[in-house]
Amino acid sequence: MSHELRTPMNAILGFAQLLQRDKRAPLSAPQLERVGYVLQGGEHLLRLIDDILDLSRIEAGRVVVSTEPVGVNEVLEEVRQTLEPLATRAGITLSVKPVAGGPPPEVLADRTRFTQILINFGSNAIKYGRPGGQAQISVDVADNRLRCFVRDDGIGIPFEKQDKIFQPFQRAGQEAGPIEGTGIGLSITKRLAELMGGAVGFRSTPGKGSEFWVELAVHGNSASAREEASLPALGSASLAREDGDSFLIVYVEDNPSNIAFMRGVIDELPRVELMAVSNAEQGIEVIRKHRPQVVIMDINLPGMSGYEAARRLRDWPETRDIPVIALTAAAMAGERKRLEQAGFARYLTKPAKVAELLEALESLLTPSKA
Ligand code: ADP
Repeated sequence: MSHELRTPMNAILGFAQLLQRDKRAPLSAPQLERVGYVLQGGEHLLRLIDDILDLSRIEAGRVVVSTEPVGVNEVLEEVRQTLEPLATRAGITLSVKPVAGGPPPEVLADRTRFTQILINFGSNAIKYGRPGGQAQISVDVADNRLRCFVRDDGIGIPFEKQDKIFQPFQRAGQEAGPIEGTGIGLSITKRLAELMGGAVGFRSTPGKGSEFWVELAVHGNSASAREEASLPALGSASLAREDGDSFLIVYVEDNPSNIAFMRGVIDELPRVELMAVSNAEQGIEVIRKHRPQVVIMDINLPGMSGYEAARRLRDWPETRDIPVIALTAAAMAGERKRLEQAGFARYLTKPAKVAELLEALESLLTPSKA
């Protein structure tokens, strides 16, 4: 299901990005604006698909959250950066108050899922807020439990609808209103918090505003030492082989529109050639013969899978050290583990972001970074 729903989005989002970035035949300003709408609509649809799939996986008990110590202030900063543009567009003042004084607290959480919960509450505070209003995120720590609050002074939730809002597809009276939504976000939020051993709750006064919170267990009291790796600059001219030859990338992929997309991406890199092969059996032959610098492997292939192909490449000494980037439509946590264990150099989820792909290729093709 995931594959069928996400694959057409690859073409939509991929080619829209390429049109936007095309330096040889740049789009006019009105065309850029239109492509912007295609991207915006596509991204919205992708989020919806992801939400529906996410919920169905959680409900089927197939989501495993792995908790680790997570710095709360860092998560708040990430949430602030994500929400700020939404708030500005809606004319709402967003304020995020990190924990001040003492060592920055850590909670036991799955970082991505914790962030997802706060972004969900925050985007609701903005969506159901009023222009000129406020959205506030703050933190309270007591007895080894930490609560993050998201408050707004927006439209509030009718009292008679309040007992159902954490149930899937419940829109608490907004179903006929102008504000876009599916009623899935809060139900995912509640289940995720519970999977992390936490809880969620809220109070709301119609016409005055709402306050949602998520509570998680505090981890010790050590400061967070997590450091963000900085990304190398994109499109750098550092891609030059000492012998002056060009680089070769072999792309194993059966879908023609994905291949055309990849050609467009590789076009942005100087002196890199792409050979596309439509199945793993042939791919292996081509790779053994031409010894490319990098292989990009679709996982879901007809016949032999990308996993099996990568395993075989590792069995031969002459292909063992060629880095393989996995491209997969499945965004599930379980799949991620499997990819990690299968020894891929990188794994990217389709629809691939052009910037992410370029970053991966550049760092694998530049010997000092490889
Ligand atoms: P969606 O926003 O996609 O409809 P959610 O599951 O996030 O779905 O929220 C469910 C419903 O709860 C919303 O449709 C809305 O009626 C109500 N709601 C959620 N957050 C707020 C808020 N901050 N202020 C007012 N209503 C809210």
